[in-house]
Amino acid sequence: MDAQVLSQKAHKASRVTPGRALFGASALLAWTGALMAAVMLVPHPAVAVLAGVLYTVPLISFWEFMVHGVMYHGKGLPGMKGVVRIHVAGHHHHIFPPSRYVQDGPYAFMRFRAPREPWRMSDNALDNALTQWAQIGLHFIVGVPAILGPAWLITHDVTFLLSALVTLAFVSWLLAYVHGVIHTPRDRWIEGHRWFQWLDRHHYIHHIDYQANVNFLLPLCDVLFGTLKMKLTEEEAARHPTFEQAKPMAKDIVRPAVEQAS
Ligand SMILES: [Zn+2]
Ligand SMILES: [Zn+2]
Repeated sequence: MDAQVLSQKAHKASRVTPGRALFGASALLAWTGALMAAVMLVPHPAVAVLAGVLYTVPLISFWEFMVHGVMYHGKGLPGMKGVVRIHVAGHHHHIFPPSRYVQDGPYAFMRFRAPREPWRMSDNALDNALTQWAQIGLHFIVGVPAILGPAWLITHDVTFLLSALVTLAFVSWLLAYVHGVIHTPRDRWIEGHRWFQWLDRHHYIHHIDYQANVNFLLPLCDVLFGTLKMKLTEEEAARHPTFEQAKPMAKDIVRPAVEQAS
């Protein structure tokens, strides 16, 4: 795929219709509003802790959708065009196209700092950590004002705020970690879990159709906004490897008994 086709593919208008956007946003507003109302009406630490998690997870899904779908796969916000290049040209096109969905080097993250090209995986712990923590940091830059800010300004409940903060920190770390593991399989503990294997196939579809499965870790907003895609079209399937061909070592692939014995 040449650079021009790639760029057109990346910048294609989002497939979220206005009606679906309104529906999704209304559902999120109603849910988060109800949870903040519960925190204010029932001043109990257990309520605040539980509400903090239930409030934060859908909002992380929303901001994950916006950061990945709009910032990474959009035309590029002012001053952020480098992020689009790193994600689309680097991550999707050069390092992990569907024909090379996995890498087997020692590090799970690509090189992020200059010189970035030729695009490649990190070959040292510093570059690996810089890319991982840049991703986590970006979720904090967005999440602190957009998730924690309203939580505090509306409720003034410290326990609710702390619960939301811990949830934001854990999910932001998990998101970067699981994405790294998906592309660099290495017999890690989480690779044997069904939820991981579901996400792996879900993410492979995104590596073929950039407008689908915009959520990586929390597919709630793909459901709300109508971008969840469970299988490739016939045309996509004909043009690209199957998941089994792209990632033959995936643990949910059933192998013939003869092959397993050898
Ligand atoms: Zn990926
Ligand atoms: Zn992407």
